[in-house]
Amino acid sequence: MELFCPACGLKSFRTVSEKAYMCGVCGFEFFHNVAAAVSVLLEYNGRGLMTLRAADPGQGMLDLPGGFIDYGETAEDALRREVREELALELDTLEYIGSFPNEYNYRGILYHTLDIIFRARLNSAPETVMDKNEISGVEWVDLKNIPFERIAFKSVASVFRNLQ
Ligand SMILES: [Zn+2]
Repeated sequence: MELFCPACGLKSFRTVSEKAYMCGVCGFEFFHNVAAAVSVLLEYNGRGLMTLRAADPGQGMLDLPGGFIDYGETAEDALRREVREELALELDTLEYIGSFPNEYNYRGILYHTLDIIFRARLNSAPETVMDKNEISGVEWVDLKNIPFERIAFKSVASVFRNLQ
């Protein structure tokens, strides 16, 4: 499939590998690289906090708090920023769980992400949702009885399988 080149405007832009595009006329290259994202499993009293997604992909399904990492940001800083924005929580000690590949279909474009996952233990069970554009609510799930069929992403499902 040939697309219009963003540099020269001719219909000469095509895929040259699974993540690279190149213009056959002007030589412009674009790499659709893996995007880095970060999430956290917040635990309190044997339960984990999950968010209900307010928008697609996965509208109405369960996710973990987190988001995409900005340029120049560490995974830890991105996570603390996202959790502050989404839940008005300040995270203390973070424990690394692992990294999990995911696919994120946003407005017709399939983004391949690498989701970096931490866990943190809380001293109380917050319910506040700050960012209503992204999150329509929170749900505390029993960590021994995970509702896999309601989880939006394979990366998040893998996190829970990894813990069991
Ligand atoms: Zn071109």
